Amino acid sequence: MKLVVLGSGTSVPHPDRAAAAFWLETENGSLLLDCSADAPHRMAAEHLDWPNLDAIWISHLHLDHCGGLAPLLFGLKWAPQTQTRKKPLKIFGCHGVERVLKAIDDANDYRLFKQPFPIEIYEPGEAETFAVLKNIEAITFSTPHTRESLALRLTDGRHTLVYSSDTGYAEDLAAFARGADLLILECSFQRNKPTHKHLELDEAMRLAGMAEPRKLLLTHLYPEWDGVDIESRARELWPGETIAARDGLRVEIKD
Ligand SMILES: [Zn+2]
Ligand SMILES: [Zn+2]
Repeated sequence: MKLVVLGSGTSVPHPDRAAAAFWLETENGSLLLDCSADAPHRMAAEHLDWPNLDAIWISHLHLDHCGGLAPLLFGLKWAPQTQTRKKPLKIFGCHGVERVLKAIDDANDYRLFKQPFPIEIYEPGEAETFAVLKNIEAITFSTPHTRESLALRLTDGRHTLVYSSDTGYAEDLAAFARGADLLILECSFQRNKPTHKHLELDEAMRLAGMAEPRKLLLTHLYPEWDGVDIESRARELWPGETIAARDGLRVEIKD
């Protein structure tokens, strides 16, 4: 599996950090982890095979994570590259994804669900296991961020990836992420966080210490991180391999 960081940032407009989105390339297809408003054009900027995207995961309904879903469907509907596509696009997400999409769709008769290919939407519940791609099993975990927010753990049988998306501090999340080859963990703030619904560095590293991933990718970085050597700061708190996300970064998940 290979991960491409499309957006390492947040809802705050930033010159170098787009809002949350990650492209996961596997032997069994591609998966977009969250779809911010920036995601559709970021996929093209990274020269990814967006017309053949297999599946999308939406962690929660904050617009820096799902605001690009309707624009992406609108783009796929009219793009020359997708007119002969036949395979379905699967959208998996938290409770409410379909309702939000339908509300946008109805607001102006966009007919986003009428594509050259089928759109399949499924909203797994908390702690539910489902096949996110062929031979890739996923399981959800309810995070202390919003009522609907979910973390995702997926495995192809050889390698495991966990994506926390936005979350407050929860030691259960470390147990959920235990032993992952790659843990994508939010690290919104440096310290004295203004809300309990996100993590600051020392909480993120405490969770990493309990989860012991082979690689830790810190993301959802607010502008207060600009100019800070995040990786050195992280190493003072946990000796494992920590990578600070940046847009365009590629991370291999292998033996
Ligand atoms: Zn967010
Ligand atoms: Zn959020």
